[in-house]
Order: sequence, then structure tokens, then C-alpha cells
Amino acid sequence: MQSSAAKWWNYQEAWDRVVCTLCPKECKLREGQRGFCYLRLREGKELRTEGYGTTSGIAVDPIEKKPLNHFLPNTKILSLGNMGCNLACKFCQNWSISKAKETPVRQLSSMDLVQLARHYDCQSVAFTYNDPVIWAEFVMDSSWKLAENGIHPVLVTAGYISKEARTELFQPIKAINFDLKAFTEDFYFKLTNSSLKDVLDTLVYTREQTEIWMELTHLVIPGANDSDKEYLAMLDWIDKYLGKETVLHLTAFHPDWKMKDVPATKHSDLIKKYDQAKERGYPWVYLGNVFDPKRQTTHCSNCKSTIIERNWHKTSISQERFQGTCAKCNTVIPGYYGSAISAC
Ligand code: SF4
Repeated sequence: MQSSAAKWWNYQEAWDRVVCTLCPKECKLREGQRGFCYLRLREGKELRTEGYGTTSGIAVDPIEKKPLNHFLPNTKILSLGNMGCNLACKFCQNWSISKAKETPVRQLSSMDLVQLARHYDCQSVAFTYNDPVIWAEFVMDSSWKLAENGIHPVLVTAGYISKEARTELFQPIKAINFDLKAFTEDFYFKLTNSSLKDVLDTLVYTREQTEIWMELTHLVIPGANDSDKEYLAMLDWIDKYLGKETVLHLTAFHPDWKMKDVPATKHSDLIKKYDQAKERGYPWVYLGNVFDPKRQTTHCSNCKSTIIERNWHKTSISQERFQGTCAKCNTVIPGYYGSAISAC
């Protein structure tokens, strides 16, 4: 792969290190060394990236697969990823991409993405599969190009990014699904090689300083992050800093990568967490990776009418010409449905 100039780095003359400032890891690189994420490498006294326009996979997905339930529901989203990752989740479900050193790559330009999105009738494009932070230069440039052409750029990310980089990267972005993996530093340190405090800082930044539509995904892993104490602390935090109207996806873990010895999440455990969130007043909670149409469907928070029916990733809009308010009682259903983002 060819490398190109990277952004977000500095050179420390005194100890001859190139320091990458794209994510909180701040890798300090000697000549020829690669960063933890693999894509970024030092050449001479500069930082280069092998991520510009190189994708390891591209597909058209239902937007519910990202998952995004309150953003252009029942539409298709062009989805692409690169390779490598700035986290090292032991439960990674995309490890063949995130851990790849060599994988077939296809070179794309920003305009190629616009044309592909139009060709496949996609109103949005998601940078997903591995964490989009690590190829932020291309993600940002192509997001501006997509936005100029009326196509909505979307990130699916852990939110482990530096303050400096997120200010720029997030500017053209219309929606993000953040993966909130757990609610203890111990989990983040031992099972992801990253830190919770940096992720929470990004969530608060996104809610308070941007207009981006955001939803959260929480993968429930038996014995690792599923205690009542941890989960209820997470709900309290979301309530305090993001608001109870935040859309929350609770998804089932399946044994993968380095956690093949951990059993899959029981459906009944997910339902318990769903009920706990509902009892605390969270209106927009959904279950993922299980068959449960009832808990995947959007009902009006006031009159309980069915608005968007879902069964796994099969979706249909029940209320004709739905544009963000319930046809029966006029209650606002927060989200983006094609005109403006309604308040969350
Ligand atoms: S983006 Fe990659 S190279 Fe840069 S600090 Fe993070 S892990 Fe290290």
C-alpha cells in the first residue's frame, strides 16, 4: 500500500520521536515504526498513513444494521471499512479486518463514494467495520465531499479519539453510533486497551458541542460488563450527561476472537436490562443480535402506537408519511427523518 501525509502529529527533536496525536494513545514512534493501529507509520521525521482511500470491504446495508434506528429508518447505507484498529478488543466481532496486516484493498476517491452511494440509492455512507478514527484523513475529506453532494456521512466508532482530531473530523458528520463497551476503566484497560474517560469525554462533546445525531450501542458480555451495579451506573451517567431520550441499543455477545470461552448473552438477560432502562424512563431502548420484534420496534413514547416495525433488520414504517411526529398524538419522536434533526 502507498502511504500519504498524515495529519495530527508532532516531532519531538529532543528524544527523536514522532508523536501521533490522532487518538489518546499518542504513539511515540521511532524511525520506521508503526503505530498501535497499524495504519500509521513513521517515515523520516514525518507521520504517514496507509489509510487514505484504501478500503478492505464495501457493502450496502440496511441502516438498522449499524445500528441506527432514529436516523433515516428503512433506508440503505453504503458501508465501508479499512483495516487495523486503535483498540484491541478481546471480543472483537470484526477481528479479521481489525487485526489484518495484509488484506485485499481497493483504492477509492471521495467522488467514487458519492457515485457509489447514488448508484445504490443510498442517502448515507457509513465508515464502519473497523474504527474510522484511524483513517480520519480520508474519512474527513470524503465526508465533506459526500455532504456537499447531499449524502449524509455516518461514523460507527468507539469514540476513542483526541480532542484535537474530533473537532475537525466530526464537522461534516451527520450521525454517529458510539459503541459504549462497558462502564469501568478496568474493563476498558484490560479488554480493549483504551480508556473509558476519553470515550465519555467524546460522548459529552458530541452531545453538547455538535448537532450530530447520536445513538449508543452497548454489547452485553456475560461476566465481563453485565453486573447490575455497572449497568445502572451507566444509565445514571447517560441520564445526567446525554439525557434519557438517548437511543440505546443493547446487543447480545457471541463468542469470538479471544473470548471464545465466554457464553453468548442470554436473551432473558438482555430483556432484564431492557426493562431496567424502561423502568428508569428511557423511551428509546432496543435489543440487537436476537429475534425480538417487540423490543426492536419503535412505539410512540406517549400513546404507544406502533411507528416503525422491526424484525431483526427488516423494517417497515407503520405510519404513512412519518416525518418525526406520531400521527395519532403528535408527540415528537427524536431523530432525523429527512428534514431536520428533532430534539433529543
Ligand atoms: S491513531 Fe494509531 S498511531 Fe495514532 S495514536 Fe492512535 S493507535 Fe497510535
